[in-house]
Amino acid sequence: MPLGEAMIPIEDRGFQFADGVYEVIVAYEGQPFLLDEHLARLQRSADGIVLGLNCSSLNLEGIIQEGIQRSGYDDVLVYVQITRGVTSRQHAVTTELTPSVVLTFKRKPIYEPQLRTEGVSLETTADIRWSHCSIKSIALLANIMIKNAAKHRGFFDAIILTDENEVLETSCANVFVIREGVLQTPPASDRILHGITRGFLLDVARKEGIANEECAVDLEMLLKSQEVFITSSSIDIFPVRSVDGITIGDGKPGPITRRLLSSFPKLK
Ligand code: PLP
Repeated sequence: MPLGEAMIPIEDRGFQFADGVYEVIVAYEGQPFLLDEHLARLQRSADGIVLGLNCSSLNLEGIIQEGIQRSGYDDVLVYVQITRGVTSRQHAVTTELTPSVVLTFKRKPIYEPQLRTEGVSLETTADIRWSHCSIKSIALLANIMIKNAAKHRGFFDAIILTDENEVLETSCANVFVIREGVLQTPPASDRILHGITRGFLLDVARKEGIANEECAVDLEMLLKSQEVFITSSSIDIFPVRSVDGITIGDGKPGPITRRLLSSFPKLK
């Protein structure tokens, strides 16, 4: 049905408590990209909030394929949200609920080309989020506050740092650096989302013989990197031209960033 006509009850726990998980999947020319990986993470997120749901019982693959086809778009942004369900508002859940499953299909946004050709500028910020960031929870208030504050100050987004100045991720993307030819990204801990694009690019690097490492990256190291870029399913890769006003490398997308960009099925 048209997006504006879809309804969800006010007492859905997603609406009242952000008690749910989600995925964002991109389809290029009608083909969902890295679908198995996204569905596996959706199951891990559902298990992480003890939803008691076997996602394979939902036939999401079939619904996603049909939705992409019916949307009529070539490149589609598929959003999947599963909440604990609808019940009278109270914190504890005492009865068995039927999870609410919502999927939306939109045209994949076309980003301004200069975001890729010139890169984005980021600031750094403290981590004000919870301690289970590997769960792709719909509770994104802290991420939204970080993103809005960055935008308000004229930055594209913010790199979230630990108290020890270690790089985690941005409000909605993973972070990679290239130092002396080695591609590095922070390890997949509870403090970051284990990005599907992140995993894909580590695989590409392994296959193409690009030296790579999952390791702690501190802010000082990042600022001295030759290249920095951020990744997510919806943006693929955006090069980073500056952080806190300090230029990265020569301030232009570097050769490894450009090479990795070419590994996506199709970029519009
Ligand atoms: N980190 C955060 C906090 C995110 O919200 C996202 C995507 O929305 C990512 C990283 C990138 O994840 P993926 O590559 O799976 O889209």
